[in-house]
Amino acid sequence: MSIELRNISKKFGEVPAVYGISFTVQDGELMALLGPSGSGKTTVLRMIAGLELPTDGDIFIRGQRVNDVPVQHRNIGFVFQNYALFKSMNVLKNIAFGLKIKKWKPAAIQQRVEELLSLLGLEGLANRYPHQLSGGQRQRVAIARALAPNPTVLLLDEPFGAVDAKIRQELREWLVRLHHDLNVTTIFVTHDQEEAMEVSNRIAIFSQGRLAQIGSPREVYDRPGNEFVARFIGVMNVLELAVSNGVARLAELEFPAHGQADGQGVRIGFRPYAVQVSSDLTQYRYRAMLRHTYFLGILLRLELELPSGLVIRARMTKEEYSLLGLEDGREVSFQIRQYRVLSKEGSDLPPEVAVTYDVSVSLGEGI
Ligand code: ATP
Repeated sequence: MSIELRNISKKFGEVPAVYGISFTVQDGELMALLGPSGSGKTTVLRMIAGLELPTDGDIFIRGQRVNDVPVQHRNIGFVFQNYALFKSMNVLKNIAFGLKIKKWKPAAIQQRVEELLSLLGLEGLANRYPHQLSGGQRQRVAIARALAPNPTVLLLDEPFGAVDAKIRQELREWLVRLHHDLNVTTIFVTHDQEEAMEVSNRIAIFSQGRLAQIGSPREVYDRPGNEFVARFIGVMNVLELAVSNGVARLAELEFPAHGQADGQGVRIGFRPYAVQVSSDLTQYRYRAMLRHTYFLGILLRLELELPSGLVIRARMTKEEYSLLGLEDGREVSFQIRQYRVLSKEGSDLPPEVAVTYDVSVSLGEGI
């Protein structure tokens, strides 16, 4: 394995930022650290790089404990969000910078820079200065510079945060291709769940300085370990129901009480894809009005408004939508195929709650 974090904590003065995090990154893996602002992702990345020291715990790179190894001896390539290219150096000199420090021979430097220019699609730009490059090109130069000395690990902190949506997409594709070609162990920080899902082999999801879950994009989407993950990865409808006469109710919607007594509450969560919609008003149990359709590409998101005013979100393909002859304002019937009974503790993992929170999430059957 390439990297291992064992029970890492970090306090800035008295303020805790990261609590007892443990995970491993395999050789050649592309891992995303995903989470909202302030959840501790950057702090973890900086500790792996050696830019911050953990208050507690151990970090291993290729089996070697590196807590006391300074940044320049960890053989790590680092790319920050804001390019951080040397403004007074052209592309060639920027990429060659680390190699000169390592006292590579000029011919070897020349060869390595040419390799990288071609690998990152920067041919012909060697003599340009950073201000003569587009945002996407600048970021690729930063990646080339980080890769130049053949690092064991590449760390990227919000690498595509500062560029517009189209270039971000292009850079994501570059990163995937590059990783495929070089197979260098890569960890990148993002707060964009779509980016994490699209680019990485595995995602470590952070919440309030703790690891909420770690798994492949598919695992964290299909089997979120807790409500925070379920809501952070993709869209989820969450309903707070009250039990009366043995049934959990919210407005028109009814679910089994799941062991709760009358007067108690039940929290239910379901994905938009679990809502089946029909234009035949008698087909399904509930009625609603199609309040708004969001066109997201081949998938559409539908907002359904029940007569009580409750709004739930559904999802379908463009094809299904046209087959059903739907449009905003239409009456529809719907049912919920699958849902989860969520723990009552709340959507976030408060600091005192351990990651074992996940056992309280169980998959319910449809009604
Ligand atoms: P963002 O996406 O906004 O960068 P993040 O998930 O990367 O967020 P961190 O930057 O790791 O979060 O910050 C985690 C917590 O540690 C935050 O509460 C932050 O304010 C705090 N923190 C980070 N760096 C320092 C520092 N140098 N001194 C004091 N507190 C810090």
